[in-house]
Amino acid sequence: MKNAFVSLFTMATLGMALSFNAFAKEYQTADQQLQAATTPTDAIERLKAGNARFVAGENFDRDYPAQAELTSEDGQYPWAVVLSCLDSRSTPEKVFDQGIGDLFVGRVAGNVVSDNMLGSFEFATRVAGAKAIVVMGHTACGAVKGACDGVELGNLTTLLGEIMPAVDGITTEPGTDRSSANAEFVHKVTKLNAQMQVNEILRRSDVIREMVEAGDLVVVPAIHDLSTGEVTFY
Ligand SMILES: [Zn+2]
Repeated sequence: MKNAFVSLFTMATLGMALSFNAFAKEYQTADQQLQAATTPTDAIERLKAGNARFVAGENFDRDYPAQAELTSEDGQYPWAVVLSCLDSRSTPEKVFDQGIGDLFVGRVAGNVVSDNMLGSFEFATRVAGAKAIVVMGHTACGAVKGACDGVELGNLTTLLGEIMPAVDGITTEPGTDRSSANAEFVHKVTKLNAQMQVNEILRRSDVIREMVEAGDLVVVPAIHDLSTGEVTFY
């Protein structure tokens, strides 16, 4: 009887350990198999699911040292790319609840495209196998506000110039405040800017456009609401 109890206890403990390992393995990190099995639609759905966990305060409890060890040994197989703002509050790995080796991330104030960024994305997709590119703007973006206000400062002037087509692209009634004091105007420019950067990626990169046309990649805009944490794809 005692032995039976001991073995039952052992089995229960073993069962718990096994299920914990299964959980840990499932969310360990992206590997070659996961990346290969991921479609562009899957990639977007996985980002949405991760953002839902972030909003709910239910981010996975990851073993980062283990992820670092695994990805350094086996290589990286990220399945998505995110172009986001420099803003310290809009961090892709956190808001999409992803670990080491899951995402390629390009960051620059105003999430604008450049030749170097395009080259990086061509590597990330055509060479390294990512299935989606998300251009993620965010609410209350200082770079967008600066562009609306025509701020000039050193090299920042050129950078903000990249956002000006979105500022000019929003039409308003005569007399409307088109400065950063108008939150609704700023939000419209932010949304249009992310969409225009998506268009720029497709216009300026033959490599990426061909992948999209073949159905191997999607390039989409999104907006991260800093106050709720929610990312809206559109
Ligand atoms: Zn910003």
